[in-house]
Amino acid sequence: MPILVMKFGGTSVATLDRIRRAAKRVGVEVANGYDVIVIVSAMSGETNKLVGFVEETSPLFDAREYDAVVSSGENVTAGLMALTLQEMDIPARSWQGWQVPLKTTSAHSAARIEEIPPENIMAKFGEGMKVAVVAGFQGISPEGRITTLGRGGSDTTAVAFAAAFGAERCDIYTDVDGVYTTDPRISDKARKLDRIAFEEMLELASLGAKVLQTRSVELAMRYKVKLRVLSSFGEMDESAGTLVCDEEDIVESNVVAGVAYSRDEAKMTLISVADRPGIAAAIFGPLADAGVNVDMIVQNIAEEGRTDMTFSCPTNQVARAEAAMNKAKEAGDINFHDLVADINVAKVSVVGIGMRSHAGVAAKMFNALKDEGINIKVITTSEIKISVLIDRKYMELAVQALHDTFELEKSA
Ligand code: ADP
Ligand code: ASP
Ligand code: MG
Repeated sequence: MPILVMKFGGTSVATLDRIRRAAKRVGVEVANGYDVIVIVSAMSGETNKLVGFVEETSPLFDAREYDAVVSSGENVTAGLMALTLQEMDIPARSWQGWQVPLKTTSAHSAARIEEIPPENIMAKFGEGMKVAVVAGFQGISPEGRITTLGRGGSDTTAVAFAAAFGAERCDIYTDVDGVYTTDPRISDKARKLDRIAFEEMLELASLGAKVLQTRSVELAMRYKVKLRVLSSFGEMDESAGTLVCDEEDIVESNVVAGVAYSRDEAKMTLISVADRPGIAAAIFGPLADAGVNVDMIVQNIAEEGRTDMTFSCPTNQVARAEAAMNKAKEAGDINFHDLVADINVAKVSVVGIGMRSHAGVAAKMFNALKDEGINIKVITTSEIKISVLIDRKYMELAVQALHDTFELEKSA
């Protein structure tokens, strides 16, 4: 039997009614002749609630226990989905990550998938089971502890299963009907894309477009998984949604494919550190060890042997970053006068493979922001993206202005 992977995100399993609706879609694919692997998220809001419990209990929490707590939301929906399918006379059972077993690294709260042995599930398909319902987002470490794959990780579970089982397709069912030129919640001019290149989707995801987790796009690209994003609320249609595919399979595209944003950024500045060889290593080594995801970095011009070092990280890692820097200061590894955190910034980015061959995108972007009176605090660029850090209160305005400037409401 050909295998299909169908992933349902939080809003698509938010109530028993929605689980039934999702199960009906699964039933259609079973009737179409597929053995189906269903990956489920926790009911929407559940994971946030669990994360909140952990943070309130222990601000600098032990990540192993964080994983034990936050992985539990998916266990509930996996069981409920299996029960719903059974009620529809479809042979189904649930699997938690460790039962598969979905083996991961021991990087708790951000683990990477190492291996998914297909034998157990394939044996059940061989016995007549039609649907394996797998709890997304979770796995088991070499030490036998429960791990999670980072927020949005059920997308990655889905793509990894599609690769491991040679699935014909991996369908990601969510609350929007595909990938848009920007978040449709921010701009009503956002346009749905029929296709998007892996590279562009990878950048958009890593710059904040949470419609797909970055790692899921990486895996799909590496293992050539046919990846589709579509709505769990609309009609079932072969051509629905957005296909994430190779660049060569897209006939025409705009220079800029989309605008992404990341709301919860913080800008941290170490005031007056010694300008000496090894200072960057002395700062960013301890930050990495503390699990801080540093994104942008700017080092000022030195004056009298001292300089300021600025970096950005997610707002919820500011406490960790401060603790790590103060510890390094006490140990005498670094010396700074002050550590200033600005937690009211956001990152806005434009992405497009067309930038490789078109000059002037950055100038156009900076002009559009200037016209709105938006001050840029930090800039970073790569071959196919430009990102700026700005005051959070201007984030929506910046996204809309850039969407207009690059005329993303029109197709190429
Ligand atoms: P799920 O719970 O199904 O995994 P998510 O909330 O993780 O859903 O992702 C879907 C959301 O991603 C959409 O509701 C939308 O607000 C947001 N989003 C951000 N950028 C984009 C984009 N470029 N295209 C589509 N959706 C986007
Ligand atoms: N429930 C997890 C989260 O909210 C994983 C997922 O939904 O993909 O991050
Ligand atoms: Mg998601």
